[in-house]
Amino acid sequence: MSGVVIVGAQFGDEGKGKMTDYLARQADCVVRYQGGNNAGHTVVIGGHEYRLHLIPSGIFYPEKVCVIGNGVVIDPEVMFQELDELLSQGLKLARLYISDRAHLILPYHLRLDAAEENCRGDGRIGTTRRGIGPAYTDKISRVGFRAGELLEDGWEQRLIELVLEKNKALERLYGSEGFQPEQVIAWLRPHAERLRPFLTDTSLVLAELASQGRHILFEGAQGTMLDIDHGTYPFVTSSSPTAGGACIGAGVGPTAIGRVLGVCKAYLTRVGEGLFPTELQGPECESLRDRGREFGTTTGRARRCGWIDLVMLRYAGRVNGMSGLIITKLDVLDALPAIKLCTAYRCNGSTLEELPGSQRLLQASEPVYEELEGWQQDISGVRRYDDLPAAARRYVERVSEIAGLPVVAISVGPDRDQTIETKPGSGLLG
Ligand code: GDP
Repeated sequence: MSGVVIVGAQFGDEGKGKMTDYLARQADCVVRYQGGNNAGHTVVIGGHEYRLHLIPSGIFYPEKVCVIGNGVVIDPEVMFQELDELLSQGLKLARLYISDRAHLILPYHLRLDAAEENCRGDGRIGTTRRGIGPAYTDKISRVGFRAGELLEDGWEQRLIELVLEKNKALERLYGSEGFQPEQVIAWLRPHAERLRPFLTDTSLVLAELASQGRHILFEGAQGTMLDIDHGTYPFVTSSSPTAGGACIGAGVGPTAIGRVLGVCKAYLTRVGEGLFPTELQGPECESLRDRGREFGTTTGRARRCGWIDLVMLRYAGRVNGMSGLIITKLDVLDALPAIKLCTAYRCNGSTLEELPGSQRLLQASEPVYEELEGWQQDISGVRRYDDLPAAARRYVERVSEIAGLPVVAISVGPDRDQTIETKPGSGLLG
């Protein structure tokens, strides 16, 4: 069987965690392929809420294999805190494998992240300050520290050299405090002990599972519009959440991917800085924020809210090669008398159907809206597509038509079972 990628179709926070957990039931393995603990996936099972940052959302099924791929950057302290918290909540640890090629986030990455962001002043990117960007920068600059180095002698010496080098940037460039190398070694040593048994060549683990015909889910973090290449650069993350990133970040070839499912909210949110043509202000924004509980899982930051942007969604469909769309949080729109969908942009007197790469053009773009009637009733208990109110079905169908993507599932609440498959029994994993 081929792999299935679950990718955020918007700016992240689309409900990928819930949907990965839902789909994991049908899979054998769940892989995280990029990002770090800047991701915050929420999974609700039987009313109990679990928050995941680094651990794959397959963790709730003890018989599934969970993999943290080479494309992820790992803060070992945060990862073990998360793991311990999950275990203290009674979870049994599934088989967890961590790539020996994944890069570690070290204490100096966090300090550099804050120092760089402070220096940007009004031009700040809105990073989560968790060291993700600087860890990826080091990876690309070929001065990163890979988890697999902990399996070999001499890692302490290499770390001393890295710390002394980073101190130069921290002290001379940013006027910030450096680290004593021994301090960083003492911090890493206990984490190294715990990490070693999990470390392996995860590409090989995946190849073996694939050769046995196992179902592999690749779980994207953040979203398409935050992709380093395809997002609204420079207000993006440092990795590749798009489906292509699954190959690089997990060590599989494109032929290992058979399906790509995009997850999008029935409206749109964004955290931090960056353009957002359909953003709402005032009470309209607040009502979506309150009903959708739009506050970051990782940072607690209030999310900016607006109408669904189908120009972006069409684009996300294209750059990810999406096979199908999952619409989440449809229930959040329950009370609205009217709902708007952005179908195109007006920019400098012409109509744009495609998302411009230029941030200047995007800034000059005004959304063109189509307005649909709301359904104004509670749909959180609906489990069959045909039982949705006609206006809700109309909304889903318009999204599908304009985005040019089949809608395969709809989520009407945070819980695992608050999910509607549009073609039940046909198997979302293909
Ligand atoms: P992710 O990062 O894409 O996994 O998304 P988050 O976990 O940050 O945000 C999704 C939030 O919405 C979480 O609190 C989920 O429990 C919640 N959620 C997911 N699907 C639905 C839904 O269909 N309706 C409602 N009301 N909440 C949902």
